[in-house]
Amino acid sequence: MAKYRLDYIWLDGYEPVANLRTKCQMKDFDNEPTLADLPEWGFDGSSTLQAEGGSSDCILKPVASYPDPTRENGILVLCEVMNPDGTPHPSNHRAGILDDEGTWFGFEQEYFLMQGGRPLGFPEGGYPEPQGEYYCGVGFKNVGSIGREIADIHLDLCIAAGINHEGINAEVASGQWEFQIFGKGSKRAADQIWVARFLLQRLCEEFEVDVEYHCKPLKGDWNGSGMHANFSTEHMRSTGGKDYFLKLMDAFEKNTAEHIAAYGPDNHLRLTGLHETQSIDKFSWGVADRGASIRVPHSFVKEDAYKGYLEDRRPNSQGDPYQIASRILKTIGEVATA
Ligand code: ADP
Ligand code: MN
Ligand code: MN
Ligand code: MN
Repeated sequence: MAKYRLDYIWLDGYEPVANLRTKCQMKDFDNEPTLADLPEWGFDGSSTLQAEGGSSDCILKPVASYPDPTRENGILVLCEVMNPDGTPHPSNHRAGILDDEGTWFGFEQEYFLMQGGRPLGFPEGGYPEPQGEYYCGVGFKNVGSIGREIADIHLDLCIAAGINHEGINAEVASGQWEFQIFGKGSKRAADQIWVARFLLQRLCEEFEVDVEYHCKPLKGDWNGSGMHANFSTEHMRSTGGKDYFLKLMDAFEKNTAEHIAAYGPDNHLRLTGLHETQSIDKFSWGVADRGASIRVPHSFVKEDAYKGYLEDRRPNSQGDPYQIASRILKTIGEVATA
């Protein structure tokens, strides 16, 4: 028998962007518990915009678990929020999404690190050097000292928790960073983004730094933050072909408004046609084109195979990866592979 620390994690009822919430309970287990061994739990939904005070209990249903590398016998328990009758709560956007393990997603999460209400590297009441040398920058004047430390510790935490973190880079604006998460299937990839966000925010508490996910926190000539969604289906990877690709792009174009609706709030502030984006009301694709809605990697068009993965550059940093991946799968599902 050993005591385990179970940190339950869920998304609250705030709109349009849910907050992460967490609380922990200690439990005894004979052996290390698997997901099936982790009990359902409850919380006061009236404090999270998920219930009225008179009937405030919401249910936490464990749906994925990860070892917590910061604790002995610690487990991070990602949950869906359910109503007492067992049906999904309206704020639960994970239940009912489209999923397919053969569809792979790679999300590039961009974010700003903020201290004292301004991004790292911004002097009080003023501006640092204009954008230019920050992207993948090296040296104190470009990336300061705390940003890389946070990004590096976060990478180590994710890997130790079994999250498929694939890499880091300093981004175009001062104080802006990116990490990439890859997963097979919507749920796997999106769960890992949410837990990676959780680990980042919890880590930043120690540095008295806040993570700003808004897609355009700075006005003026500063890049916004995206969460590019790279995706590939079994068919795209193994068969591909130009005809199928063009049909797929037609379907994406027809569904432009539906995609934008699922891609995170305030995206009109970011998708302006400037700063490596396409305008929010236009759809375009282009080989290696960072000003397109969908960037087609060189590897995709190599030898005219039109095979591999595509990058939808429109999802933003505050977007819900469940809804983003599900929308992409929905459009893919409208296109015949024959
Ligand atoms: P860039 O910044 O040039 O857009 P990144 O290296 O940051 O590129 O991100 C590329 C992403 O593409 C990674 O998240 C990676 O996991 C993802 N990716 C690579 N191959 C595939 C694939 N076959 N299917 C889905 N995603 C993929
Ligand atoms: Mn990237
Ligand atoms: Mn980027
Ligand atoms: Mn990208």
